[in-house]
Amino acid sequence: MKKIEHIGIAVKNIENATKIYTSLLGSSPYKMEEVKSEGVKTSFFKTGDSKIELLEATNPDSPIAKFIEKRGEGVHHIAFAVDDIQSEIVRLKNEGFIVLNENPKKGADNKLVVFLHPKSTAGVLVELCQDRK
Ligand code: ZN
Repeated sequence: MKKIEHIGIAVKNIENATKIYTSLLGSSPYKMEEVKSEGVKTSFFKTGDSKIELLEATNPDSPIAKFIEKRGEGVHHIAFAVDDIQSEIVRLKNEGFIVLNENPKKGADNKLVVFLHPKSTAGVLVELCQDRK
């Protein structure tokens, strides 16, 4: 894995949270995007070589809505950049990690993404992401 690509933060209200992170980081989001298939609205901020992704649920069945219901707002996942997501899936499955979606799906910010179950990663939802060509 190359680096922490971004940290995902679940928020109740993306407009409010975007204002907060704009003043925290001293810069505006470079992208705001809705991912209909995941039921989320997102804001992306650059922080040096990494990013912050804010996520608000757009429907009550969205994983973000469920997360906030259970645990409140806060850090939702850590995403690592990978060059070859397919070979990482094979490697991590062999290592015993629980891969939540074996077929990488289209995530926000022009990425292919897979998630690892927090049960297998000491309680943290882990995302792997590869740039889509
Ligand atoms: Zn993410």
